[in-house]
Amino acid sequence: MKRIDFLQRASAFLGAGFMMSSFSKVHQPSSDMENAPFVLPALGYAFTALEPHIDAMTMEIHHDRHHKAYVDNLNKALAGTAAAGLSLEELMGQISKQPVAVRNNGGGHWNHSFFWQLLGPAKGSQPSAKLAAQIQKDLGGMDAMKVEFAKAATGRFGSGWAWIIWKDGKLQITSTANQDNPLMDAVETKGVPVMAIDVWEHAYYLKYQNKRADYIQAFWNVVNWDFVSQKFDKINS
Ligand code: MN
Repeated sequence: MKRIDFLQRASAFLGAGFMMSSFSKVHQPSSDMENAPFVLPALGYAFTALEPHIDAMTMEIHHDRHHKAYVDNLNKALAGTAAAGLSLEELMGQISKQPVAVRNNGGGHWNHSFFWQLLGPAKGSQPSAKLAAQIQKDLGGMDAMKVEFAKAATGRFGSGWAWIIWKDGKLQITSTANQDNPLMDAVETKGVPVMAIDVWEHAYYLKYQNKRADYIQAFWNVVNWDFVSQKFDKINS
């Protein structure tokens, strides 16, 4: 068994604890400035950490197989091309010039690297006062935001993502198809992602089957608002 497999399994077994703190020092989440070959970032918490809202098997398959496939296929698509020298964020900004395999797998890598960080076992986390005030101002408060976000997420036909983005000095809700994201020059509504939900069936089907709305409702229990608030602060600093 490879060391990374052992560590992931051991931490899944032990739950969050001292294992994770030493683990995350070795395997940091992908940096936006990294370039090819890209690596699968660590999940950063146990597969079981989001139970019962998102089940461990979904997390394991989603991270170890789906996200890994995006990384592997992105590296294959970039190998030997001029675009191999670009960071992931640079690729997003000129994705309209790239082959579809780079768009799909590069988006897949960026989106999932972001998604794992905005989820977490931090129960009871809340948006910072600054972010809460902005949600109040632009989106009518937390309850109204959740309704609009769920509308965008359930309304996205087929596979895709719903987003809260920073655009033109305010928070806005949008959605994208497939593995597109608001950083891509090719999408209709561009902006800086503040938070997101993956509404591909692979994100929820084992536990929720066709009930996407139930998964979206459960998602709010596992949002790491500390990460989302930090992301918002960084955009605005
Ligand atoms: Mn996914």
